[in-house]
Amino acid sequence: MTATPNYDDEFDAIVVGAGLSGTAAALTMAKDGLDVVMLERGPSPGSKNVFGGVLYTPRIRELTDLSDAPKERYVAKKTYSMLSDAGDETSMSIAPAAWREEPHNDSWMVLRRDFDEWFADQAVEAGATLITETTVTDLIREDGTVVGVETDRPNGTLRAPVVVLGEGANSLVSEGAGLKRQDDRDNVAVSAKEVRKYDREKLEDRFHLDGEAGLAAHYFGDGAVGDAVGGAFLYTNKRTVSIGVVYSIEDAAHGERTPDEVLDQFKQHPAVAPLVRGGRMVEYSAHAIPEGGPDSMPDLVHDGAVIVGDAAGLVLNSGIHLEGTNMAVESGFHAGQAIADALDRGRSDAAALESYEQRLEESYVVQNLDHYGWFMDTAAEEKEFLFEELPHALGDATEEYFRMDDRPKDEHVSDAKSHILNASGGWFGMAKKAWKFRKMLS
Ligand SMILES: Cc1cc2nc3c(=O)[nH]c(=O)nc-3n(C[C@H](O)[C@H](O)[C@H](O)COP(=O)(O)OP(=O)(O)OC[C@H]3O[C@@H](n4cnc5c(N)ncnc54)[C@H](O)[C@@H]3O)c2cc1C
Repeated sequence: MTATPNYDDEFDAIVVGAGLSGTAAALTMAKDGLDVVMLERGPSPGSKNVFGGVLYTPRIRELTDLSDAPKERYVAKKTYSMLSDAGDETSMSIAPAAWREEPHNDSWMVLRRDFDEWFADQAVEAGATLITETTVTDLIREDGTVVGVETDRPNGTLRAPVVVLGEGANSLVSEGAGLKRQDDRDNVAVSAKEVRKYDREKLEDRFHLDGEAGLAAHYFGDGAVGDAVGGAFLYTNKRTVSIGVVYSIEDAAHGERTPDEVLDQFKQHPAVAPLVRGGRMVEYSAHAIPEGGPDSMPDLVHDGAVIVGDAAGLVLNSGIHLEGTNMAVESGFHAGQAIADALDRGRSDAAALESYEQRLEESYVVQNLDHYGWFMDTAAEEKEFLFEELPHALGDATEEYFRMDDRPKDEHVSDAKSHILNASGGWFGMAKKAWKFRKMLS
């Protein structure tokens, strides 16, 4: 391994991690004329990145021209399905005509290995420097102020007025330096994901896809992730399908099955097995997702440093939405702007960088986290109902409603209703649950 050339004092900012948040910060600062270096531990940006697959692009589209970006398919259809472990499936399918038009609701399936590398190239073209295969091991502090980083390269220290920590959910540097509490990292979900490769035509036939259109399918219930608070997903790329499960670390710790066993079980559900049959597994990964909501966000601004993206806990999981990519880019963008403003005034202390936090609070990022902050706790409280009783009740109710026999329809409707009411604890129980989840619709 070669020593890092001595770049001390050459850069205005060091970015730790060339993921979405780090690159967005680097690109924003480079466009503003700052000298920025991105340090990435992987052999190339994205090579270590795992995710389900929908990239939300409103801010990226403003930062750079996305027309040549390596995108797989736009989300033309979303499905949400309740699966019971008895084999029931109850689904809702959403495919607004507007999603088929540009900019396709800013929702694209991408492969991070390709996309992150391309995105980092945009920052390099704007003037940023990218150094790969370099792991930041610690922060250098003087009188409490962050003044640079140590890396795993011989003589690999680097100093600059500001360090941007975009190291993702496994934020060992921020924690090691005391900028983040270890228990902030305990508020995570675990995931297991595999990517399977198929013949493109067969994949399009199987999922009824045309051109660049794609399907984002979400699954809940004990048929998806067993006895756990979480869900499963299936996303179609051009020639591959990403299939995964995401559930709370607490359930993983107490559960009998490992995440890859949960994923295997999900793939065997009768609603899923025909969709993932055949093909060849080309990638397998496991990763953490922050889901502590607004209460577990660390202080984002420090003397000489800011924290962005997953490292700052900026992921929205509302059951319906799983959004981290847009929040990562948005936070990198606001951090980049705040740093440019502060350095313009010759400052890099926490008070001067404070506008990053203010901008984020005024943006949808913190507003959405605040709005759905209740969700994970309530979902855990209602775990038995949401993830076990409801999928079975929906399966039984729909089976009853549509059953062909010699009984009149009104009897079927009444029995179908009973299945739902019994699972909900009667009308009163249903009203109580509706009240608990009212913010889903307000
Ligand atoms: C299974 C799964 C499914 C998901 N699905 C979706 C989805 O469909 N849509 C969505 O919007 N979000 C999704 N997310 C969340 C989304 O992936 C993240 O919110 C997003 O990737 C965060 O970007 P980031 O730049 O903050 O972190 P990352 O993308 O994790 O990037 C961090 C980068 O830092 C590098 N790095 C880490 N430590 C160091 C170090 N010490 N030195 C140098 N480099 C370092 C890493 O190699 C990496 O390149 C999903 C996450 C998972 C795990």
